[in-house]
Amino acid sequence: MKNYAHWINGQWTEPASQEWIETSDPFDGKVWAKIPKGCATDANRAVAAAKNALHSGEWATLSATARGKILRRIGDLLSEPAVAQRLAELESRDNGKLLAEMQGQLKYLPEHWYYFAGLADKVEGTIPPIDKADMLALTYREPVGVVVALTAWNSPLMFFALKCAPALAAGCTVVLKPSEFASVSSLEFAALTREAGLPPGVINVVTGFGHEVGTPLVEHSDVAKVTFTGSDTTGAKVYAAAAKTVKRVSMELGGKSPNIVFEDADLDSAIIGAVSGIFGAAGQMCTAGSRLLVQNTIRESFTQRLIDLAKALKLGDPKQAETNIGPIATRPQFDKVLRYIALAKSEGARCVLGGEAATGDDLGCGQFVKPTIFTDVTPDMRIAQEEVFGPVLSIMGFDTEEEAIRLGNDVVYGLAAGIWTRDIGRAIRLSKSIKAGMVWVNTYRAYSFLVPVGGMKQSGLGRESGIEAIHDYLETKSVMIATDSSAPINPFVQR
Ligand code: NAD
Repeated sequence: MKNYAHWINGQWTEPASQEWIETSDPFDGKVWAKIPKGCATDANRAVAAAKNALHSGEWATLSATARGKILRRIGDLLSEPAVAQRLAELESRDNGKLLAEMQGQLKYLPEHWYYFAGLADKVEGTIPPIDKADMLALTYREPVGVVVALTAWNSPLMFFALKCAPALAAGCTVVLKPSEFASVSSLEFAALTREAGLPPGVINVVTGFGHEVGTPLVEHSDVAKVTFTGSDTTGAKVYAAAAKTVKRVSMELGGKSPNIVFEDADLDSAIIGAVSGIFGAAGQMCTAGSRLLVQNTIRESFTQRLIDLAKALKLGDPKQAETNIGPIATRPQFDKVLRYIALAKSEGARCVLGGEAATGDDLGCGQFVKPTIFTDVTPDMRIAQEEVFGPVLSIMGFDTEEEAIRLGNDVVYGLAAGIWTRDIGRAIRLSKSIKAGMVWVNTYRAYSFLVPVGGMKQSGLGRESGIEAIHDYLETKSVMIATDSSAPINPFVQR
């Protein structure tokens, strides 16, 4: 059993409280590590380190090109097979994600660091063609300042990259607080960035509960920006707290994404897309395709094929290659998924598959939910409106394209959507009409470091990945310079 410490100013730093939180493996329930129970004192220390690194010392004077080189070295370190394997194993143990999925993710993660490494010295100001003959105008793009990053438990290393790579490329410094349920991979990765040459204080990781260490970070007057990934309920609280000091904010929140299947689709692919959209990562994805909208002409046969496929999915140890569905990551989340299943039944939805916890000798401590499918779901039901964050699918039928669009948009969320059709015109029409930050046509769960990720409506604010992401960590400053000191000036009239 390892007792971790916070990572502050390039050093392992014990929590001021001298208290730790137990971390258990969601598969076997065994406690395997302890993470620091952070408090306001730890938050203050971390922000002071980040502020110091921002204004003085090595990072403050590095050229953008040199910053990019360090990000590149972080990518190189992550590419080392032994490092990638260790981090994949740690995260799988922390949140129960399939080891195979984590290994795939780790192969791809360096690309995020390389992309922003390349962008670091492509940030340029402008020279506006000013309308005053005796003046020169410039704009600078400056780092926004100290950034606080709060992340969820379902993909900690991915969130680390999505937030820290653009923040560092922009020249900011960061205090990251991962979820209390899955902090170890972020702590270990932060220490690795030092090996890559990142100066002390540029990335700091403090752990603990949101209300104990997250809130003081968000409220800290030396913090300029908060970037948050988590639930919409917590996101709204963080947004309100950050507003008190007018901090810059970006939010990656929840979803209730529609996966829309038309009768003319390649149904073999659509079935795979529907399964991966809701049963991948045991449904614990913000982009889960949790509302399957199927054209009524094929709804019954499609549902039956889906049931047959989902029945064959293997639940089990996330470390085993043959496992398709791992455990639910946390006990509160497990309870929440079961509560939603009971709610859907009480609302009158028909459970055609699963609908309960799964038990068995090969299911460790039993934190598993069977792949669950509901039909006879109507848009007014809570199961059709609220995020479950588990392997629970609601199927609804539609007749026309207009009805599909109306149903697709009939939630407060707007994170992702899938469209399955062979009609290119329809695909384009829907990709425009569906209010979602990410639309997939004839595919689902596809991501790239080059493509913006983020939500519309109550799914969030701002974008991660792609060029846009770096702009969230930059401020524009305009400068006007008088070039002719002999020009007559009337001090009482605005120029
Ligand atoms: P959560 O909202 O419970 O916690 C997120 C983070 O906020 C954690 O680090 C937590 O400790 C911290 N926190 C909690 N209360 C706080 C407070 N008062 N002040 C400051 N920080 C606080 O979310 P979760 O359960 O860890 O994650 C699941 C949710 O995340 C789901 O709703 C899911 O949709 C969402 N999510 C969104 C995306 C996206 O990119 N849109 C990605 C993954 C997960």
